Amino acid sequence: MESLGIYFLLLAAVIAGWILGRLTAVGGAHKARHSKDIFEDYFVGLNYLLNDEPDEAIDTFIKALEINSDTIETHLALGALLRRRGKVDKAIKVHQSLLARPGLDKSFSDSTRLQLAIDYISAGLLDRAERLLNEVLSEDSASKWDALRHLITIYQTEKEWEKAISCSKLLLTNSTYKRESELRAAAAHYCCELAERLLDEGHDNKAREQIKRAFGFVRGNVRASLILARIEQRLGNFKSAIKNLIMVRTNNPEFVSQVLGPLAECYEQLQNLPEFEKLLTNSLPEEPDVSVVLALSDLVKSREGDEAAIEFLNDYLMKKPSLIGLVELLRLQIPKAGTEVSSNLNLLQQMVNNLLRKKPAYQCNHCGYESRSLYWLCPSCQKWDKIKPIVDASVS
Ligand SMILES: [Zn+2]
Repeated sequence: MESLGIYFLLLAAVIAGWILGRLTAVGGAHKARHSKDIFEDYFVGLNYLLNDEPDEAIDTFIKALEINSDTIETHLALGALLRRRGKVDKAIKVHQSLLARPGLDKSFSDSTRLQLAIDYISAGLLDRAERLLNEVLSEDSASKWDALRHLITIYQTEKEWEKAISCSKLLLTNSTYKRESELRAAAAHYCCELAERLLDEGHDNKAREQIKRAFGFVRGNVRASLILARIEQRLGNFKSAIKNLIMVRTNNPEFVSQVLGPLAECYEQLQNLPEFEKLLTNSLPEEPDVSVVLALSDLVKSREGDEAAIEFLNDYLMKKPSLIGLVELLRLQIPKAGTEVSSNLNLLQQMVNNLLRKKPAYQCNHCGYESRSLYWLCPSCQKWDKIKPIVDASVS
């Protein structure tokens, strides 16, 4: 059973409701009969619970509890429980019938609308949820902050980035949320999404404005820095691109594999590959990442030829065995081997490649989700910035 504690809390609420009914029923025969009905329903509900039939138990409790100011919170809890058990239609009915009650206290009306909006989100009825939440937001009550949180979820799902940014900005004006790092990270990514869209449409300068906005939420955000480097590179500002890429590598060494490609391109454009080699060689002792080694091996190869690259890779692999490094070594050695040895090495290269294809390159450090591609938003736990490259994933 999902949460025994919740059911027994609900039972306690039903019992309390029944006792209250008894107390208020002292003066009237009709009320006394009514409290007797509740008492019977309570036992029916309890029976369902004991028989491990929680859905029927919840239905009975809802029927047993008359809606009044003493029981609304219990109804809200039962509605939320129904939703969590996947009975969204029933949860919607419970919350709608609560809302339909005339003279519902303002704070309960807000809580009910929020719960109904969550039901709608769970059912995929996002436009209805959005309408309801905007209604709560426009009334400027204490519930508007919760409404904003749910609106952000909707706009993120619908990829309405500008609206998601507006809601995030408003939520961040509240001192409770001001320093919430996940909220700020999400807002920075909404700006990055807009920047990438603008880049695809060829609006480089407008994309740069979005990156500035992203840095307003999180200074030095990795994705924003990578996009900014891409913009600078596209505009031919190679030195500025290099500066941004080096900043990513310095502040987030686990992302070094993401910056090496564009760094090599920028240094090549500046015809300054020796400077790139110096940068990599200097960083190798502190970042013995295989991607750095492969980039260096490429540079050695183009400067001194295959033999020098083979020697360089051999040296590295002796210190730190790596499957990716081995594949590169085989690639360099196969053309130099005799026919028979070369076919054996080919087979070995194929086997290692197959092994590598099955290995994940990225992992979410929140839920453990693994993938071959980099996702900024984890598809599993829906958190931003939690997926990171697995440093030297190939070492075995
Ligand atoms: Zn995750």
